[in-house]
Amino acid sequence: MKIEKGNIDLSKKYLIETWGCQMNEEDSEKLAGMLRSMGYESTMFRNKADVIIFNTCAVRENAELKVYGNIGALKALKRENPDMILAVCGCMMQQKGMPEEILRKYKHVDIVFGTHNAHKFPEYLERARTENAQICEIYEKETEIVEGIPIVRDSSVKAFVTITYGCDNFCTFCVVPYVRGRERSRKPQDILSEVRDLVSKGYKEVTLLGQNVNSYGYNLQEKVTFSELLRMVNEVEGLERIRFMSPHPKDLKEDVIEAVRDCEKVVEQIHLPVQSGSTALLKRMNRNYTRENYLDIVKKIKEAIPGVALTTDIIIGFPGETEEDFMETLKLVEEVKYDSAYTFIYSRRKYTPADRMKEQVPEDVKHERFNRLVEAVNKNSIEINKSYQDQVVEILVEGKSKNNDEYLQGRTRTGKTVNFPGDEVLVGKLVQVKITKARSFSLMGELVQ
Ligand code: SF4
Repeated sequence: MKIEKGNIDLSKKYLIETWGCQMNEEDSEKLAGMLRSMGYESTMFRNKADVIIFNTCAVRENAELKVYGNIGALKALKRENPDMILAVCGCMMQQKGMPEEILRKYKHVDIVFGTHNAHKFPEYLERARTENAQICEIYEKETEIVEGIPIVRDSSVKAFVTITYGCDNFCTFCVVPYVRGRERSRKPQDILSEVRDLVSKGYKEVTLLGQNVNSYGYNLQEKVTFSELLRMVNEVEGLERIRFMSPHPKDLKEDVIEAVRDCEKVVEQIHLPVQSGSTALLKRMNRNYTRENYLDIVKKIKEAIPGVALTTDIIIGFPGETEEDFMETLKLVEEVKYDSAYTFIYSRRKYTPADRMKEQVPEDVKHERFNRLVEAVNKNSIEINKSYQDQVVEILVEGKSKNNDEYLQGRTRTGKTVNFPGDEVLVGKLVQVKITKARSFSLMGELVQ
């Protein structure tokens, strides 16, 4: 019997749902790349998917609970479509006992794998199709960096380029070193060839990604510093903008500040996670800098890079945080005047030293401090956004605005989101936009001809 394709879509479909940080996003882009090269196409609908992957995050309890809920919710779908393959991967799976628990509780999960062996997904998929058993493989330790995995990216304008994997810092609240392994740097030639390849495909902006980008290269055979890497990427012809995240304050030295100042493609925005404004708490967090060290770096950055936008991460309610510690954080926020901040309420994570600390802060105290912090952060953001009023700024157009089809969306060099009326042909272009209205979290504007 011959089947005419006609308008019937016979291709196999995949759906990847991702929780967590850019590292997980990047892993999902690689999983999508592998699936594409196996002939799969993406779908947004669970009931149309032949393969569903949940890429999980272990950093916060909330994200974990969502994963459990989502796996449970797929049981009925799997009953209706037993051929559908459900895979669960990511940081949660690197935690002791977690894969076994997932497989025991959720018999409809077909594949479980971890962060160090995602490159083996095609093999697991093949086995899941042919073997009548749940497939589970977790590597305890990180492997050599695997290059050349195909990547399907969300945007056609900007891309994340990983420069380091893992982390050696062991902040006492964080599971990353346990679930992502020790720090490894990619070779500069591999990074540069990825960036050149992106430019040849029309990409205009890259974000160099690592848990601590400043320590890039120290473990390479031929040592290259992060500032040297920035200068190399700056030489790539056709590339317009370079961002990076995140530097660790303890390792951000003058050479990096000078590279940001000197390299015209490196934008005037630095994300510098502070976590707390109290030296006593920073010590308990094992951050290896003091409040004074941090403020000194901020001063140097502001002197060297006029108009720089600073953003940060702050944790509220870390074990032992007193009202005085919290006030130190609040004062620091007011002093630095961040453009924006990712603010988090401390969440206990199994196996971390902070989880074993006795002085856990009561939930109501955490929430009350959190609200005061958010108010202070937002006040700064709004003030800074208002200072853009009537200015003409360079925008890299990233796509259509999310809320209005006739508007485009892009970002300033300082990372501000700007919406303005315009034609889609401008996507991927640098344009001049006059800011007409400042909102709390974005700006409105009009094209300058
Ligand atoms: S630097 Fe600290 S917070 Fe960042 S990933 Fe490493 S251990 Fe976690």
